[in-house]
Amino acid sequence: MKAQASRRPRTLAVVNQKGGVGKTTTAINLGTALAAVGRSVLIVDLDAQGNASTGLGIDRDRRRTSSYHVLVDAAAARDAIVPSDVPRLDIMPASVELSGSELELIELPEPQLRLRHALAALPAKYDYVLIDCPPSLNLVTVNAMAAAEAVLVPLQCEFFALEGLSQLMSTIDRVKRTLNPELEIQGIVLTMFDRRNNLSEQVAEDVRRHMGAKVYDAVIPRNVRISEAPSYGRPALLYDYRCAGSQAYIRLAGELIRRERARTAAA
Ligand code: ADP
Ligand code: MG
Repeated sequence: MKAQASRRPRTLAVVNQKGGVGKTTTAINLGTALAAVGRSVLIVDLDAQGNASTGLGIDRDRRRTSSYHVLVDAAAARDAIVPSDVPRLDIMPASVELSGSELELIELPEPQLRLRHALAALPAKYDYVLIDCPPSLNLVTVNAMAAAEAVLVPLQCEFFALEGLSQLMSTIDRVKRTLNPELEIQGIVLTMFDRRNNLSEQVAEDVRRHMGAKVYDAVIPRNVRISEAPSYGRPALLYDYRCAGSQAYIRLAGELIRRERARTAAA
């Protein structure tokens, strides 16, 4: 066995330029499932809407130093991080200022690498960092892709899903060429899958044909319990761990851990 270098987290950007496809839900519930099996996890909320922060029950006065201050004011990551109610799960919350941050970022040195530099100085306790991205391929998302080792793409099984995916893939390629040659695709997770809907089945088949093994076996079903949980400020996994949606996220976490083991064994 190789000697372990200083502990570095596996950093995954949860990306899709479409809104409402399950990015935030995936970050929260995958993060919770990983924490439940003993991993130490940080979620970085990069969406001005702050849904990941709200969904984990972080109220406004615990968001004074946010990912905005880390990106724009070079605040230290550790000063923005707060614990959630889930053991081993921390969050760097977002705040509304992020919505205008592109214009500020562009004036700063290395505007695409601000998050990467900030995360390099993280406390050495995390196994996983999951970055919840805004619904756009803007400079904030580019910061996430430049800071990450791999992207995890939630994909809703609907018409045009593949077109959105090819646009995303070309952005990933551009980031690889210019900022982050090591960036990989960790995997694609099909979300809000509806078995009764033929289109869901058909899109899932198409995506698997095009993306092959990159698509996780775990498929997240459309499930009302998943959509109820955020209004209680709790991950679905805590709100109702037995529901089909929570169980699917537990399977996804297992698959992710197995892929990570295979990757490090091959390295
Ligand atoms: P994004 O972060 O990509 O914008 P969200 O994770 O916020 O997407 O999901 C969009 C909406 O769909 C939210 O209201 C969320 O609660 C709901 N949702 C997400 N996943 C599911 C699911 N598997 N079943 C039912 N509702 C879901
Ligand atoms: Mg979101």
